[in-house]
Amino acid sequence: MPDHESWSTATALIHAGRPPREPGRPLSVPIEAASTYHAGGVSDYARDGTAGTAAVEEVVGLLEGGRAVAFSSGMAAADAILDAMPIGAHVVAPRVGYAGVSARLAELDRQGRIRLDRADLSDSTAALALLESSPGEVLWIESPSNPLLDVADIAALVRGAHAAGAEVVCDNTFATPLGQRPLDLGADMVMHSATKFLGGHSDLLLGVVVTRDEQRAADLVGRRTLLGAAPGALECFLAVRGMRTLPLRWARAQESAATLAERLRAHPRVTRVRYPGRGAIIAIEVTGGAEGADQVAGGTRLWVHATSLGGVESLIERRRRWAAESPEVPESLLRLSVGLEDPDDLWRDLATALDA
Ligand SMILES: *Cc1c(COP(=O)(O)O)cnc(C)c1O
Repeated sequence: MPDHESWSTATALIHAGRPPREPGRPLSVPIEAASTYHAGGVSDYARDGTAGTAAVEEVVGLLEGGRAVAFSSGMAAADAILDAMPIGAHVVAPRVGYAGVSARLAELDRQGRIRLDRADLSDSTAALALLESSPGEVLWIESPSNPLLDVADIAALVRGAHAAGAEVVCDNTFATPLGQRPLDLGADMVMHSATKFLGGHSDLLLGVVVTRDEQRAADLVGRRTLLGAAPGALECFLAVRGMRTLPLRWARAQESAATLAERLRAHPRVTRVRYPGRGAIIAIEVTGGAEGADQVAGGTRLWVHATSLGGVESLIERRRRWAAESPEVPESLLRLSVGLEDPDDLWRDLATALDA
């Protein structure tokens, strides 16, 4: 990218991760179908990194303000972080967080690979009290959390964790780097499921870890090679394309989500609305228990009944339909991912399903 530090993020995002401006060069990094390269170049083998991964990493690094390393999915990114922890590391993680990471942490704990404690991270004092100041101590933050939308005070948690000698990892999938930048708040590593808002079109799997520590970044690249968790060329291309419009998508989705949250609060079938005042995810509880919630999810025509979040299309899902979801998530909780449709159309469709 031409070096213009005065550019806003929105402008820099349009021009980051592109080939040099030279006659005959394409404007975007092409989708390169290759596992191996003529010897003697920057990378000989695609598992070590490609021009496609470098483009994703440049764009995400710009967004989060650090050195990004791309992985084949958000879970692969999380696993690379966990895999780097010393045997017996003590991890304090959210009591209710993303089900996949939560299940992986529980498995590593059962195997004796880590020692796991869970905390309500919206209570900083209680969460920090669990830290033991032992070597290899890690605080794993997810804020807002999936799917309960609990909000943590990242700056306070980082201060307390560092004072106890713990490293801090922050899953920033729900907030996006436009909502908050955990590295600016002192976190050691930030991770994303770029499958969600960063990619933004429900058409790829990708994960990233970002850090300001060059050694840690180099370790993560090495770990990606060893774990074989390299993203594909098409996924890298789509993720870069998706991130160019993140500011526009994020602004629109947030505005619609705020409108919908307000209207939902006034609807007689909705017993609780969880919306942290920003972001594009809303969780609601409805009357009629699991069955009532299933009827709503199955009764929309515009909202898509599907898992995941962060795409241009609005999605609705009852989280407890998954056996792996935490029993602390209410049976009637519906997670709404607000997309880019007209908010009045979204409201009419949702209200019709709620009224049925
Ligand atoms: C989806 C998700 C993940 C996992 O990412 P994948 O790309 O699906 O592997 C991790 N954390 C959060 C908060 C998520 O929503």
